Amino acid sequence: MKTVLVTGAAGFLGSHLCDRFIKEGCAVIGMDNLITGDLKNIEHLFANENFKFYHHDVSTFVHVPGKLDYILHFASPASPIDYLKIPIQTLKVSSLGTHNMLGLARAKKARILVASTSEIYGDPAVHPQNEEYWGNVNPIGPRGVYDEAKRFQEAITMAYQRIHGLETRIVRIFNTYGPRMRLNDGRVLPAFIGQALRGEDLTVFGNGNQTRSFCYVDDLIEGIYRLLLSDYPNPVNIGNPDEITILEFAKEIINLTQTNQKIVFKDLPEGDPAMRQPDISKAREILNWEPTIDRTEGLKITYDYFKGLTQDELYKKEHKSFDAYFR
Ligand code: UDP
Repeated sequence: MKTVLVTGAAGFLGSHLCDRFIKEGCAVIGMDNLITGDLKNIEHLFANENFKFYHHDVSTFVHVPGKLDYILHFASPASPIDYLKIPIQTLKVSSLGTHNMLGLARAKKARILVASTSEIYGDPAVHPQNEEYWGNVNPIGPRGVYDEAKRFQEAITMAYQRIHGLETRIVRIFNTYGPRMRLNDGRVLPAFIGQALRGEDLTVFGNGNQTRSFCYVDDLIEGIYRLLLSDYPNPVNIGNPDEITILEFAKEIINLTQTNQKIVFKDLPEGDPAMRQPDISKAREILNWEPTIDRTEGLKITYDYFKGLTQDELYKKEHKSFDAYFR
């Protein structure tokens, strides 16, 4: 039986990864400091004897007893609002936290997969973005704390591979959506769905001509799983190339929720990339992977999930505060 450590286990992607590895018959250790994660995302796993949870901040020394076969390092705030609120933790988790995870992987002779991001391409001058593109990042802009930490993460991961012969994998994750996202994390999909559910206008930033390409979470998890088990040592983009403007996306959400909400335009946040679309040729070729769930289907599942939450759960999803962490 393989033993897998997932950091950021109570988060959106981390919790889906825990589910997947439990389903694959692995023993899963989930770790999270709960700064942005939510235990609700993994509470269904607590009764499972193959699942353990450690409440721990991976930016400090990490001790895990026993053997480890795989580490998936997914701990990090990952939305613009989060890393504006907690910039130093954002920098630490992908630098110090990644260093700790690489050290742990080395000590355990484990294979490690780190979660990188399309943000390492910044506001891209190449479209669609392929893995050979080095990016266009402003190190001191509001997104710099996330983008540069993730770039450092890739650099140190490659250094451990080259110097210590560590088995490493790097996934560059593009915009992903699905059940368990936080309603108040500022990302566009939960923002729009939350607004529709509360009967508010949908807030489109800028003129809405900026583009994104949204991947349904199950597709992403499948891509990550294949990458982990592959022998490919360099970064791979995983995302859905189906590109859409944010204005069109807002109209799709209004259509989906049948709410007749209006669209209001707000200032475009500083450093907001104008376009983003993954080139997934590598994933297709090396992992034989491509997305299978289109936006209509994925958005419906996601909307049904949010609609199915009780008022209390919805309130918690909207009002999770960072205060508990800082007390
Ligand atoms: N956005 C928007 N309205 C919102 C939230 C986000 O128009 O209420 C836009 C945001 O400016 C960006 C896009 O939606 O252009 C995607 O934003 P998100 O924060 O989800 O992720 P990003 O890809 O920018 O990291």
